[in-house]
Amino acid sequence: MEVYSKSPDYTTNSGLKVSQEDFRVAYQYKQLKPLVKTNAAKTVFYLQPSNMSEGFDEAVQARVENNYNDWQNYMKVVDECYFVRKADDFDDVLFCTCSVGARKQICKHSLVIACTLKIPIFSG
Ligand SMILES: [Zn+2]
Repeated sequence: MEVYSKSPDYTTNSGLKVSQEDFRVAYQYKQLKPLVKTNAAKTVFYLQPSNMSEGFDEAVQARVENNYNDWQNYMKVVDECYFVRKADDFDDVLFCTCSVGARKQICKHSLVIACTLKIPIFSG
């Protein structure tokens, strides 16, 4: 494993900057009361997508065990359970597997988890 040093301006970059629209979308998502599962250390989170897919529990299981029957099964899991994790080196950075998060943008799933983890959020 490679080791990176934290950048000198790390502390000033702490927290997430999000737009009002990001907030609105995340709030709407939270209102759906999606299922969320996490590990004991609260470093990884499994979130039910906003389409409230019924295969969530099985999808979480497949992700936890990293056990997929075939490619089709894998694609189904990707759609039915989003995976948010904290960055290894930066406490305030979250990654999500959804299409928005994959573009390295803040998505509603990351925002909901940021609130849960009390990561500072700034609007702007
Ligand atoms: Zn996401």
